[in-house]
Amino acid sequence: MLPEPGSQDWDKMAEFMRADLVSNMTLSKIIGMTRKQYKEQGRDFDEEFQKWKAERSPGIIKVKCSWCGLDMGTKECDKNDKSNGKTSHSICDECLDKIEKKGE
Ligand SMILES: [Zn+2]
Repeated sequence: MLPEPGSQDWDKMAEFMRADLVSNMTLSKIIGMTRKQYKEQGRDFDEEFQKWKAERSPGIIKVKCSWCGLDMGTKECDKNDKSNGKTSHSICDECLDKIEKKGE
């Protein structure tokens, strides 16, 4: 999956690609060589990479509006956070607007 354009991860990916181009695709070659080496050793590059990534990736909390149930996307959390993978409740702009108007 590609990172969100404009996000920090996107910048990191673009940086990696630029470095790769400047170095004459050395980084891509290293990945290819590592894959080959792993294969010769009977290791699974993709599996190990997935594990590596999972260990480093932060946790994700789903955010929902507690008033109307609107899906408000996700936010990152520490992967050891007890809320990791769970849903957190917040309030969307529309509901906030309604509540604020009510109070007037
Ligand atoms: Zn709402």
